[in-house]
Amino acid sequence: MVSHKELRNGLEIIRSEHNGHSAGSRCVDCQDIITQPICSHCLHSQMKVMVGEFDPELASEIDPCEISGDTNCIQCGKEMGLCAHCYSKDVYLQIKSKNENIAAQFIARFDFDLRESMA
Ligand SMILES: [Zn+2]
Ligand SMILES: [Zn+2]
Repeated sequence: MVSHKELRNGLEIIRSEHNGHSAGSRCVDCQDIITQPICSHCLHSQMKVMVGEFDPELASEIDPCEISGDTNCIQCGKEMGLCAHCYSKDVYLQIKSKNENIAAQFIARFDFDLRESMA
């Protein structure tokens, strides 16, 4: 028979492990530890400028896709939960479906291990 106290301690351990910042915050999508904490909001504005040089209409279609999490962006300090790789992959695929040429420019500029995962 487990006492309530023991049960509660056990739950607290699970909870602290789950929320533990020491283990590093993981991306909600790929579950990898976020090593380049740049939020989708910051990336989005950079991507819009880059894509806008080629196709302003396509640039306006890029979705900021803000997901908050346990990591703070190194640029704006905003909470983020989606890593730069996953976000840029989403945007890359969106651009690629419209314009392969811009997609190639995009991958050269925002290469968050995209080339490896797309290979
Ligand atoms: Zn990810
Ligand atoms: Zn940011």
